[in-house]
Amino acid sequence: MADTAETLMLRAPISGVLLPLATVPDPVFAAGTFGDGVAIDPLSGTLVAPCDGTVIHLAATGHALTLEAPCGAQVLLHVGIDTVALRGEGFAPCVATGERVRQGDVLVRFDVDGVARQALSLVTVMALANGDAFAVAGKPVAVRAEAGRSVVLQVRAAGAQALPRHASGEAGLRPHRRTVTLACPGGLHARPAARARAAMRGLDASVMLHYGGRQASLSSLVALLSLAAGEGAMVELVASGADAEAALAAVARELQRAGAGEDAPPVHAGTIPLSSASLVPGAIAGVAAAPGIAVGTLHWWRDTAPEPAEAGQGNATERAALRAALAGADAQLTHESQAAAARGAAAEAGIFAMHRALLEDPALLAAAEAYIDAGKSAGFAWREATRAEAALLSRMPDPRMAERAADLLDVDKRVRRVLAPAPADTAAGRLPAADGTPVVLAAEEFTPSDLAGLHLCPAQVAALVMVRGGPTSHAAIIARQLGMPCLVALGGALARLADGTPVIADGDRACLLASPDAHALAAAASAMRQRAWQRDTDLRDAHAAASTRDGVRIEVAANVGSVADAANALPHGADSVGLVRTELLCLHEAAAPTPAGHRASCQAIVDALPGRSVIVRTLDIGGDKDAAWLQLPPEANPALGLRGVRLAQVRPQLFDDQLRGLLAVRAAAPLRILLPMVTEVDELLVWRERIRALAREAGAEAVPEVGVMIEVPSAALLADQLAEHADFFSIGTNDLTQYTLAMDRCQPELAARMDGLHPAVLRMIAATTEGAARHGRWVGVCGALAGDPLAVPVLIGLGVTELSVDAALVPGIKSRVRALSHADCCQRAGALLRLPSAGAVRAACREYWPAQAPAPRNDGALARPYGECQ
Ligand code: PEP
Ligand code: MG
Repeated sequence: MADTAETLMLRAPISGVLLPLATVPDPVFAAGTFGDGVAIDPLSGTLVAPCDGTVIHLAATGHALTLEAPCGAQVLLHVGIDTVALRGEGFAPCVATGERVRQGDVLVRFDVDGVARQALSLVTVMALANGDAFAVAGKPVAVRAEAGRSVVLQVRAAGAQALPRHASGEAGLRPHRRTVTLACPGGLHARPAARARAAMRGLDASVMLHYGGRQASLSSLVALLSLAAGEGAMVELVASGADAEAALAAVARELQRAGAGEDAPPVHAGTIPLSSASLVPGAIAGVAAAPGIAVGTLHWWRDTAPEPAEAGQGNATERAALRAALAGADAQLTHESQAAAARGAAAEAGIFAMHRALLEDPALLAAAEAYIDAGKSAGFAWREATRAEAALLSRMPDPRMAERAADLLDVDKRVRRVLAPAPADTAAGRLPAADGTPVVLAAEEFTPSDLAGLHLCPAQVAALVMVRGGPTSHAAIIARQLGMPCLVALGGALARLADGTPVIADGDRACLLASPDAHALAAAASAMRQRAWQRDTDLRDAHAAASTRDGVRIEVAANVGSVADAANALPHGADSVGLVRTELLCLHEAAAPTPAGHRASCQAIVDALPGRSVIVRTLDIGGDKDAAWLQLPPEANPALGLRGVRLAQVRPQLFDDQLRGLLAVRAAAPLRILLPMVTEVDELLVWRERIRALAREAGAEAVPEVGVMIEVPSAALLADQLAEHADFFSIGTNDLTQYTLAMDRCQPELAARMDGLHPAVLRMIAATTEGAARHGRWVGVCGALAGDPLAVPVLIGLGVTELSVDAALVPGIKSRVRALSHADCCQRAGALLRLPSAGAVRAACREYWPAQAPAPRNDGALARPYGECQ
């Protein structure tokens, strides 16, 4: 790599494990008496040039040499400790004094085993020999170094050394220290590291984490991961700055937190029941991540993130380009994170948030800018910086760390795509020409950034299939949203299929059939026609009200988290809006919304659904939903902390502003207010009074109806008391399940057990409807359970009269309601509460209320499924 007048980048002269100089078993090196530098415990016997230069000294024994870089910096390379005593035995120099070398040229080869047997240590030192004129400006934190690739030292002329930025007030203050034991499962990997970093937000302090002789700044996720500190590791935190003590406490609390949702794949609340490989002879077995059947030609998705030119167009231009691309990628991720949060997919939103943190990582940015300083283009610099870190992470023994390498590479691709967006024709070129034949798009594994750049049109892409991946991966969630079949974990058998192979992707039976015969194709076509018929029928009927067979009207409403969601509710036939998650309208804003801002966003939603009633929930921030502008001190147990209406205890103005905004909205149909996380009657009475007072202040003609979200057990158990003062209830089954079962809704390992059909949750729902009935109040459900067809008869049977679901689910849920008998639901629901488990409830539901009968068939297709004739 070329050097600049300002910075000399020194790459690792040998592959191995990086160590601080202080750990070298030689006092001269360890104390830095010789010069500042870095040590490497070698994993190979080849010493290479860390930069271009001239060999100005080569020890006769071959164990040490000094290079002078063109800028004048002199770099000593010293293999092992006390190796001079070997008198050259085992060392074979490949260069001579006075020879010019290029970075990466082999300088010395040595016999690793032989030298190791005889020397005190093999640790190899690279140190700055003329420290009077040059100084070390940076040591990228990493664990492993690759000879000739990893940048391990940045050197500048002594006067130009960049000093690290310290938090204010640091000068003259002694740093605060604290030792903590990592309780986070799997150790210090991405999520706990990101949380620890977030915990310091707003505090005037800088914190370094020391472990295993190395250190990393809390501001750098990459550096923290590189420490490879496992679960149970003792780490030391050193904080400086005015808020050092508070920062230490906050970071320590995060690191000592056991068991929050970790780096397993994201889970979508209300995940569909998944099937794994069923047996279709001749088919490739996989795991079904989204249901449905598709026929098409296989098309391999090529990773077309543009390969950047190496040479840059000047330091200022390339730095500006990189910053702009990082901002663009950040905007994309913010949008995707909001969309995931709106779906209730908190863990998935967390992945996007972590990708955003990687974009801000100072270590990555410093490494990329160093490349730019050396004359490289922004794209090349970013790619090299992220790849180097990913290479190190991928070799770590902890698979969770290794998985983060994939995150880094995805972030790399995303930024490069923003830097050099493919022209529309090229982007389309990644898919075959739309000649009417749909494709089944295949990949090793689709990453979030792949899907961000690809506008999946169901008419062109019929299904997604992957060699690897899991049913809770981002691609699987997107496929389910689009109603597109998706198969994952199809393995090498898929990898061996060529582009253009005709296939049937069967998300109902978890398999992929290659080169199907005419009979299989006919059967698949018939199954697809049935599905399409059902979908079209549901959609056609969606605009009519839904009543059970015996005439009981059930309102099917939409949950919305944006104006776009509201606009989508209308064509899907939503009777009303059952839940506006107002926090999603402003979580990612730069500042807390004003009353006018609240009014404008809610007015836009109301206007998108003329004549439909809208239930607006007051801000439900806290728990897994964090607003950057809130700047509250971190909590040990956010799910049990200041979330929902409790936040008003410390930020009453926030809610007054929102209520003022809501009271100013002009609506033709009722606009109702819903209060999240209410736990008792007194709380409700205070809120009712405040709403009344603000309505009076605004001169409003009427006070809006006020409902209570039933999402904590105390509210369900006190439903009869609450119902006296509330106008309606809306059950948040996502949280009600979390708090009833004491299972974190963001914990992927518990996702399969976080089932709202658990008899304990059903008893909470029954207590709610009974309490409401005593005062003639109606009860809706706005959690994910309302959109689960198996749960619909149970909820109706327990007395629920409104189901609020994602807009896309409205037609199917209405259709489900119309197929049921209300009397039958009521008669059977009570018995489910006595069953021993959620599994038993689901089994009973399948038996009592099987899925709808298939559509009438008039196409003469074969009744046998296609696989049975193979
Ligand atoms: C719920 O808890 O079920 C709910 C609808 O609220 P949220 O998912 O926004 O917490
Ligand atoms: Mg909730």
